Amino acid sequence: MTATPPANLPTVARRGLMLVLSSPSGAGKSTIARALLDRDPDIAMSVSCTTRAPRPGEVDGKDYHFVTVETFQQMVAAGQFLEHARVFDNYYGTPRQPVEDALASGRDVLFDIDWQGTQQLGQNARSDLVTVFILPPSVEELERRLRGRAQDTEEVVRKRMAKAGDEMSHWFEYDYILLNTEVDRSIARVQAILDSERLKRDRQVGMAAFVNNLRGEG
Ligand code: 5GP
Repeated sequence: MTATPPANLPTVARRGLMLVLSSPSGAGKSTIARALLDRDPDIAMSVSCTTRAPRPGEVDGKDYHFVTVETFQQMVAAGQFLEHARVFDNYYGTPRQPVEDALASGRDVLFDIDWQGTQQLGQNARSDLVTVFILPPSVEELERRLRGRAQDTEEVVRKRMAKAGDEMSHWFEYDYILLNTEVDRSIARVQAILDSERLKRDRQVGMAAFVNNLRGEG
């Protein structure tokens, strides 16, 4: 049962946070990210630029901004990326402006980026950053999910399997580690992480004024 929220709910201004989800491809990260976005209007997804070709069904501007290597390099030179990295044989980068706009308006930003990008964000925005690493329950399950996606060629699947160990070796650099055994449970857990992080005192920048008001000192 969902209760109807009362009108005029008090809101306390807070600083948006940057929630990073990383995992080897096939561990279920995109499903979790999509579910969070669907249920929470306060989250904006960071849409990366990539030089890789779109997969069937991927939409330019929604899944990625698909760009040429030349455009990507120009964007790097112009400082337009918050972070960027080479992953597999392609370049990926997070456009800076949309993230800054979303954070400034008090929204949280969700990132689906690899460990290299996470490290770079950590160097610049440590206090705004919350990082979650998602592990598959087993290697067999990872392979099953990669093949089940049926979007990549056999060669790409093999490459991604080979890379998975590499990616997973960075698990200890993350704040939270999640075994994705059951997707609904994982979604609820990431939502719980997000809810707790939002409630941290330092992020609730409007709280002092709110409490003063409660105490009749406003
Ligand atoms: P895919 O090609 O399967 O969409 O993504 C491959 C990998 O690149 C995934 O691990 C994904 O998290 C990572 N990735 C996607 N966008 C970015 C980005 O903007 N920066 C970095 N560093 N990694 C990214």
